[in-house]
Amino acid sequence: MLNVINVINTLHIQFKNYAPIPLLLQRMMTIESIEVLNGPSVWSDTRHKLIQMRLNLHELEQCPTNTIPGFFERLNKLIPTLYSHRCSPGVAGGFFERVKEGTWMGHVVEHIALEIQTLAGFDTGFGRTRETETPGTYNVVFSFINEDIGIYAATAAINIAEALVRSDRYEIEKDLDQMRIIGRCDVSKSSKISANNVDLI
Ligand SMILES: [Zn+2]
Repeated sequence: MLNVINVINTLHIQFKNYAPIPLLLQRMMTIESIEVLNGPSVWSDTRHKLIQMRLNLHELEQCPTNTIPGFFERLNKLIPTLYSHRCSPGVAGGFFERVKEGTWMGHVVEHIALEIQTLAGFDTGFGRTRETETPGTYNVVFSFINEDIGIYAATAAINIAEALVRSDRYEIEKDLDQMRIIGRCDVSKSSKISANNVDLI
């Protein structure tokens, strides 16, 4: 009986991890798990509202951004406000410099997930991306104001990054509208927007 319960629990966890992700098929990248963290974590003692997504880059692991023709130009055209992300260089334009020099797609997904939340009116800006013990699989972590919007942003950011890789047209406004609708319907899950949420990217 205990084994059965363990199996059911495992399946439940797997289902729960996959449930919010409607479009896993035919992706370039796949979400292996997604968790909502609501407290101190290995990522931060003070940032208590974080999405942690385990993301498998598959073949894109072999394709840092500087090896994808036109990737930076398309990213800059679709989301020019990413210029404000300082990233590790610590200055405005720092993230764009990393993209030009070559960074991995998990890191790009992190920054897009943060920026589309901000553009939708849920201003937030803490993120980290680290490779796991499995090559090509990353923990992508980013802050949220509203949990449901954060989860939406995770999948939308992957859609956007993949469209940029393929040079497909992408209507980002539809995502922003959808996040605003979620926010209006779900104000109880939105914490007060604070200037403290807007740094460190
Ligand atoms: Zn960064």
